[in-house]
Amino acid sequence: MNIHDNISLRGLNSFGVEARAARLVEWESEDELATVCFDGRWMALGGGNNILFTKDFDGTLVKSAARGIEITGQDAGSVSVRARAGVDWNDFVTWCGERGLWGAENLAGIPGTVGAAPIQNIGAYGAEAKDIIASVECFVVGGGTRLTLAAEHCAFGYRDSVFKRELRGKVIVMAVNFVLSKEPRPNLHYAALAEKTAEFGEPTPESISRAVISIRDSKLPDPSKTGNAGSFFKNPVVDVAIAHELAAIYPAMPVYPAVERGKSKLAAGWLIEQAGWKGRVEGHVGIHPKQALIVVNTGGATGAEIVEFARKVQSAVREKFGVELETEVNIVC
Ligand code: NAP
Repeated sequence: MNIHDNISLRGLNSFGVEARAARLVEWESEDELATVCFDGRWMALGGGNNILFTKDFDGTLVKSAARGIEITGQDAGSVSVRARAGVDWNDFVTWCGERGLWGAENLAGIPGTVGAAPIQNIGAYGAEAKDIIASVECFVVGGGTRLTLAAEHCAFGYRDSVFKRELRGKVIVMAVNFVLSKEPRPNLHYAALAEKTAEFGEPTPESISRAVISIRDSKLPDPSKTGNAGSFFKNPVVDVAIAHELAAIYPAMPVYPAVERGKSKLAAGWLIEQAGWKGRVEGHVGIHPKQALIVVNTGGATGAEIVEFARKVQSAVREKFGVELETEVNIVC
């Protein structure tokens, strides 16, 4: 276990903002976690890809250094796999692809760790982590006990789970158990992905992953060069009636069915672009010119500046469309 006091977080958050944490604990085993003092404020940190520090963190950050992926069972059609929390998410996707296992390929290239994946139920190209998660192994802070939650008890929703709600601040994800398919299950409902995959030949987990990464690389800024945290905003889910009203005024507006009955999903990126914010820069913060969902640190921005900028984007969308944009990024105040 590594313990760092008064540590700079600049290299530990993909926005690249400066902030310090009173303590950072890097753990590898459950036994090590059991020795950590959780009195006072604490928070789990994954790859730092979905977080925005607006000031110094006066407590303990807990980060997993637990690596390892293993097959734990299989039957005729599927393979059960356990991956520990500190495994890089894309390494996990690659591991599955190399073995011809289906289910993770649409989620290629998402920055972060396996342990962070269930927290916000990461998703892309019509797939979500919940589609392949069987259970999540957690360490219960305070009790020091282990809790394994079956997927049906994780309350997975759109970029949401029990870990962001009832279990927030109560557990630390130690490992995730997945079920992957041996049978081909290409999920190519997103038009851009179907087109790009076709360029690489037959759909396989590896060719689909390659296609996803190729599209992502062409549209998304590399956080090692331009600070960002992926999608800053969630796609708004509104009543079908509201979506119809807006579509009557803006016929080009994309509208997709939402998982919830009576609701529609709007594309936050389109709303931001139409509100005139795509590519706009103010001070050290901007909206990425190729992808309006992404707020970028153009160099030297503070977390507070980024939040202020994001509030302006939210106001612009609210004024033009009457739609509230929620942030996907975890803002730490
Ligand atoms: P896009 O293809 O330009 O589409 C814009 C939006 O329309 C997406 O947000 C997507 O919703 C929705 N959409 C497109 N085709 C759809 C379909 N067939 N059925 C239902 N909804 C559809 O999207 P993009 O911005 O380049 O992103 C591509 C994918 O990567 C998306 O799934 C996006 O969520 C994901 N992504 C996630 C992050 C992140 O940080 N979480 C960052 C970048 C991209 P959904 O977003 O609900 O899929």
